[in-house]
Amino acid sequence: EQIDANSFFAYIQDVYKNYPNIHISIQNDLPFVKMDTKYMERAMFNLIDNALKYSDAHSPVEILVKNTEQSIVIVIRDFGWGIPEKDLPYIFDRFYRVDKARNSHKPGNGLGLTIVKEIVHAHGGKIDVVSKLGEGTTFTIYLPIC
Ligand code: ATP
Ligand code: MG
Repeated sequence: EQIDANSFFAYIQDVYKNYPNIHISIQNDLPFVKMDTKYMERAMFNLIDNALKYSDAHSPVEILVKNTEQSIVIVIRDFGWGIPEKDLPYIFDRFYRVDKARNSHKPGNGLGLTIVKEIVHAHGGKIDVVSKLGEGTTFTIYLPIC
């Protein structure tokens, strides 16, 4: 379904308006995109959930939405635990959790990112991750513009 990206992300902004450490910035005049909004909302939720869960309590989470000629770019950045380099190739695998996450009291099944990746791929998009242990993690989603 063709969706006005600005109204979708305005809705996301509204969903998270009561989270003081989540900062969302959305570029004006984003294009229309083919999007299943229920699934994209789920993908955003899973990434924001991780960003909050694997960070200290008041650590900020920054969400930036912009577009290039070909894509809508969604950046979700945190300043939390970060992910060890050796684990990075596996974090999208089913049931995979980094040792520190598994040994913590933080609940999780290691499925959130698997679902995110499936949703992004179903939209013809891609997702990248950059992370530094002890500094934070940035996920970037690229959704093709039709
Ligand atoms: P679930 O999402 O199923 O509740 P989960 O959060 O453990 O459980 P994923 O969301 O798939 O599973 O993430 C896999 C693992 O990647 C996590 O357990 C954690 O170790 C690591 N991880 C994911 N996102 C972050 C992040 N933003 N910062 C640090 N580590 C992360
Ligand atoms: Mg998760």
